[in-house]
Amino acid sequence: MMQDATSVPNEASPDAVACAPVKRSTRRFAVVGSGASGCYAVEALLRQDPLALVDVIERLPTPFGLIRYGVAPDHQGTKAVVRTLERFLANERVHYFGSVCVGRDVSLDELMAHYDGVILATGVNRDRKLGVAGEDLRGVLGSGAFASWYNDHPEALDASGLLARSRQVVVIGAGNVALDVTRLLVKRRDGYAGSDLSPVVADALSNAPIDAVNVVGRRSPGHAKFSLHEFRELARLASGRITLDPAARQTRFDGGEATTALPHEILALPVSDAIEAAGQPIEPRRAVRLCFDLEPVAFLPAADAPDRVGAVRFVSRSAQRESDAGRVRELTLPADLVVTCVGYDFHDRFGLGASGGVMHHRDGKLRERLYVVGWAKRGPSGAIGTNRIDSHAVVAKACAEVSLSAAGDGSVPSGIEPLLRSRGLRWVDFAGWKRIDQAELDKAGPDRARRKLAGSEQLAVGSLATP
Ligand SMILES: Cc1cc2nc3c(=O)[nH]c(=O)nc-3n(C[C@H](O)[C@H](O)[C@H](O)COP(=O)(O)OP(=O)(O)OC[C@H]3O[C@@H](n4cnc5c(N)ncnc54)[C@H](O)[C@@H]3O)c2cc1C
Repeated sequence: MMQDATSVPNEASPDAVACAPVKRSTRRFAVVGSGASGCYAVEALLRQDPLALVDVIERLPTPFGLIRYGVAPDHQGTKAVVRTLERFLANERVHYFGSVCVGRDVSLDELMAHYDGVILATGVNRDRKLGVAGEDLRGVLGSGAFASWYNDHPEALDASGLLARSRQVVVIGAGNVALDVTRLLVKRRDGYAGSDLSPVVADALSNAPIDAVNVVGRRSPGHAKFSLHEFRELARLASGRITLDPAARQTRFDGGEATTALPHEILALPVSDAIEAAGQPIEPRRAVRLCFDLEPVAFLPAADAPDRVGAVRFVSRSAQRESDAGRVRELTLPADLVVTCVGYDFHDRFGLGASGGVMHHRDGKLRERLYVVGWAKRGPSGAIGTNRIDSHAVVAKACAEVSLSAAGDGSVPSGIEPLLRSRGLRWVDFAGWKRIDQAELDKAGPDRARRKLAGSEQLAVGSLATP
């Protein structure tokens, strides 16, 4: 329903940013994507323009992007931020259009024609490739694909079959996502209590015959990007099973790296027996070994299945760099499953220009009336809260710059709802999301936070019956 200036309650908070004066009083914005950055953009629009109407357009039926489908299922404290974000979507000036994909159901040009301003908050959408031989072998997965699976993303591949025959796992990366993946791989079943791991995922993880998980970083322990908190969580969880590759003790700390306790705590781990002997089952089961200064150079096929990964070959990075050819260390680790946690890549689906994994923009502005926030703007780095600062800054710019340009006749632009109706498209509105949410909470059972519905179930429960 269209609202005029007098019918909209003034919700400006004391920290609201003043906007440039406008002739028509109500502007309608579209926010594309309902992850952290999209939701914080909605918050900012509500605060900074007390009259703005905001349509949130989300490809999936459910909101919250990677908070729902990336953040580890046993970190419910982190996921709980959605309760704050949901308040923005619940605001009467906001309309949620779930299961509507820009570029498929409506074009970006159509959005530009139906809104005063458009804010893209579409994130980054695929795992970064390492670009080494054998990366396409079965059993080599990116962390986005793996996290989608353990978070029940409706489009995720099924990793159960891979896990069922995985004794040796290699996790490549030295950031928090590598720790999430490793923790879930080595956790015992009782550690899933309180999470939202589905029974299928929980069975696959706990029944997997994993003997060892080698976590391999390219650089020294001093460069590890683990947060101290997450590292300690893994060290506690795998106490007695977690060791350090002895060679990591010899890697140098380059100047200024050891500003936190992290490298010291890594180096204080017990050293594993000669890692080169890996391949034999290691006791105890689900041992974790941290290795550093190793660059993956090839994924090698399994002896009995040439389309499946069987090992990863690494070379020592510092020895390469220092042209210390005589001391180049080569290491081949057996691997039935490899999870690469090396970041994400941006696919420029709107053809707006991108390089280095981010869209081309100027302080968040892509072109007149079109802005970008979040990972699509900055690339895949920073925590959930980083998106708030960023989205608020970009929205301040949008509020100051966007004039009432779209309709031209003084009326508030219609938004996409009439377009969706004319195309006979169904969508999930905010009430529909709440029905999905409630159904998932009802299905949770005693030791789970929620049980996510499959994509088709989400649509059955959540989408509007008659557009
Ligand atoms: C595996 C993993 C674990 C993480 N764990 C943590 C953690 O523990 N703590 C932490 O602070 N941060 C964590 N992060 C980082 C955090 O998730 C990001 O900072 C945040 O999600 C980025 O938000 P975003 O809105 O830019 O992108 P996203 O969350 O990816 O949201 C983008 C949204 O846009 C939608 N979309 C995309 N294209 C379209 C389209 N064409 N039309 C309509 N909608 C579209 C997507 O469906 C999605 O909902 C993690 C990230 C990953 C990948």
